Amino acid sequence: MLLLKLIYYPNKLLRKKSTQINKINFKIKNIIYNMFKIMYKKNGIGLAANQIGINKRIFIIDISKKKNKKLIFINPKILNKEGEIFIKEGCLSIPGIFKILKRYSHIKISALNTNGNYFVFKTRNIKSVCIQHEIDHLNGKLFID
Ligand SMILES: [Zn+2]
Repeated sequence: MLLLKLIYYPNKLLRKKSTQINKINFKIKNIIYNMFKIMYKKNGIGLAANQIGINKRIFIIDISKKKNKKLIFINPKILNKEGEIFIKEGCLSIPGIFKILKRYSHIKISALNTNGNYFVFKTRNIKSVCIQHEIDHLNGKLFID
């Protein structure tokens, strides 16, 4: 069993670009399971794998109040982005800091699900911002940059 913990800024792992996943095996599913556990415990709405020290291109989000709308993105790719929105952002890895950033209000991305199936996801507003924040994590970028 993996024991994974949230890592905090300025841990260098947050600055490393995450790598593509070739095979979605039990280990990857276990990482995702742990990511949700940690994200829900910390009352977050999004988490990238490198925030728990795993240098792989996975992120999860759930913006529902009931914590029952899990979204999982493996090897995400931005297909289209447009519009603008300003939202106050925070990050589980950088507690206590909030900043209003300019982001794209609409986004379309592709990714793989846990069965390895390709899908396209289109969204806007908070979810769009959340996705951009998490994809930044996978590229070693932080919202305070
Ligand atoms: Zn973050």
